[in-house]
Amino acid sequence: MQKARSIEKIMPPPPAHMVGDGFRVHNFFPGDGTISLQRMSPFFLMDYGPKTEFPATQNPRGVGVHPHRGFETVTISYYGKVAHHDSAGNSGVIGEGDVQWMTAASGVLHKEYHEKEWSKKGGILQMVQLWVNLPAKYKMTDPKYQPILREQFGKYNLPGNQGIVEVIAGNYEGVSGPAYSFTPIEMYNLRLNAGSNFTLQTVQNYNTCFLVIEGNVDVNGKTVYTDCLVLFANDGNDVQISTQKNAIVLVLSGEPINEPIFPYGPFLMNTRQEIIQAYDDLNNGKFGYLED
Ligand code: MN
Repeated sequence: MQKARSIEKIMPPPPAHMVGDGFRVHNFFPGDGTISLQRMSPFFLMDYGPKTEFPATQNPRGVGVHPHRGFETVTISYYGKVAHHDSAGNSGVIGEGDVQWMTAASGVLHKEYHEKEWSKKGGILQMVQLWVNLPAKYKMTDPKYQPILREQFGKYNLPGNQGIVEVIAGNYEGVSGPAYSFTPIEMYNLRLNAGSNFTLQTVQNYNTCFLVIEGNVDVNGKTVYTDCLVLFANDGNDVQISTQKNAIVLVLSGEPINEPIFPYGPFLMNTRQEIIQAYDDLNNGKFGYLED
C-alpha cells in the first residue's frame, strides 16, 4: 500500500567553502552535524557547487593529487566541464549533464580539474559531488571508473508533457539507468516543465533527498527554492511534486548500509584500524603514482 512520505527537513545551502581553487561548494552532509553521519547512507557526503563564474585562465583550477579509499566519488556536472585522472590509469572529461562515477574502493590517487579548453574561455560551473559508501565486503575491491554521458541516461517521459525523468542509476517506471552501483541506489534528474503535478514513488526504507538544481519546486505543497535540499522522513512512499515554472531536481535515494563507519580525511572505512592501515599503505606507495 502506498502512503505519503513526509518532509523531515528543508535545508538552505550552508556557508560555501573552496575545494582546491576550482570548486566552490556547499557541504550539505555530513556537514556540521545538522544531519547525523549515516542519515543519508549509502550517501556519505554531498558537496554542491551552485552556479559560479570562473574567469578565463591558462592554468586550469581544481584539486591536485589526493587519495581515496573505501567508497565511490560520483560527480555530476550541470554547467561547465570537469576532467579527472587517477592512478588506476583512468581519465575522462564530463560536460554539461554528464556524470563520472569513480570507484576508489581499495585506493586510488586522483586529481579533479576544470577541463583545459573550457578553462581558457572560463564560464559558469555548476556541479555536485557525492561520496557513496561501499559495504565492508567491497571496500578493498579493485578501483573502477564509469564515465556516463547524459545521452546514456534512461529517459522516462512524464505523461502530458510534464517533463522527463533522467535515470542515472536504478530504475524509474521500468526505465533503468546506466550506472553500476554496489548497493541499491536510485539517482535521477527530474527535468520538469512548468505546470507539472505528479507523484514520485520512493522506497520507504531508502534514505532519500532532493536537491533543487534550477527553479523552484513544490514538494508536498511546500515551495523549495533553488540550491536547497529536502530530506525525507522514512515514513512512506509517495512524494507530491509540482512546478509553476521549469525546474531541475536531483533525486537521491538508496538502501542504507547498516555497518559502523569510520571516516577520516579522504578515507571512509569501517574501523579506526583500517584508517591507520590506509595511511600506512598510502605512505608505502600502495595507491600507485599520479603526476601532479
Ligand atoms: Mn577526490
